[in-house]
Amino acid sequence: MQPRKRFGQHFLHDPGVIRRILDAVAPASGQRVVEIGPGRGALTWSLLERAGTLEAIEIDRDLAAALAVDPRGHGRLTLHVQDVLRTDFVGLRGDGPPLRIVGNLPYNISTPLLFRLLEQREAIADLHAMLQKEVVERMAAEPGSADYGRLTVMIAAYAEVQPLFEVGPGAFRPPPAVWSAVVRLRPSAAPRFAFGTPAALRAVVTGAFSARRKTLRNALKALLPVTEIEACGIDPGLRPETLAPAQFGQLALRLQGLRDRPLGYN
Ligand code: SAM
Repeated sequence: MQPRKRFGQHFLHDPGVIRRILDAVAPASGQRVVEIGPGRGALTWSLLERAGTLEAIEIDRDLAAALAVDPRGHGRLTLHVQDVLRTDFVGLRGDGPPLRIVGNLPYNISTPLLFRLLEQREAIADLHAMLQKEVVERMAAEPGSADYGRLTVMIAAYAEVQPLFEVGPGAFRPPPAVWSAVVRLRPSAAPRFAFGTPAALRAVVTGAFSARRKTLRNALKALLPVTEIEACGIDPGLRPETLAPAQFGQLALRLQGLRDRPLGYN
């Protein structure tokens, strides 16, 4: 069966990389482990053996059919033949312990998938994911760096990010055009800093980073008066990428305050 480009199929074949991922996840018996995109099973059989049971979500019917009859499976594998972007992880968790999610993820859906997973974070204990290296760098970037931006702040609001190791294209068949990296995410049920509503945070962060070279005063002109920025103790002359995630949270609270103010008091 030819790898399907539309499903981002690059299959891991490097035993050293596979072992490092398994060691990082360290699945234990009785844990609820869910693999996204098991493909040809590079990670699947070891995950299953260590955890005893495994749920796997695969969009490609042919790959799922081959996995279902693969004799290498020792344990109880439950296959969900579906699009992970439509998976109800809260329902999957049910009353059980939160899920440990693992995946060498299709790069074409990685950002929407991360946000969908974070929306359902109450169901998730942790996530170990192979992603495009640049995406991991953006997720884990420090304020002031070129990689620091919208993705960094929106993820920092909900999860601790820990980059683990990088993986070259030769570890996959067919090799992707880019380097990859494995990252660990630990979502927290409560937001990691105060920001009001997700919509307010999204608006402030999107506004701020839409014009990286502008000062906050100019980048947020349409959203927040300078006095509101100053009221957060933030210099409106700063560039957006120098602000810590929690400072975007303060600006979002201000924006929400303006939006919630009854008409006539604006
Ligand atoms: N885990 C395997 C490995 O490491 O060799 C395969 C990794 S491959 C990069 C991505 C896998 O995700 C493929 O098996 C692909 O069919 C599957 N996939 C792609 N899009 C998906 C989606 N929307 N929902 C579920 N699985 C998907």
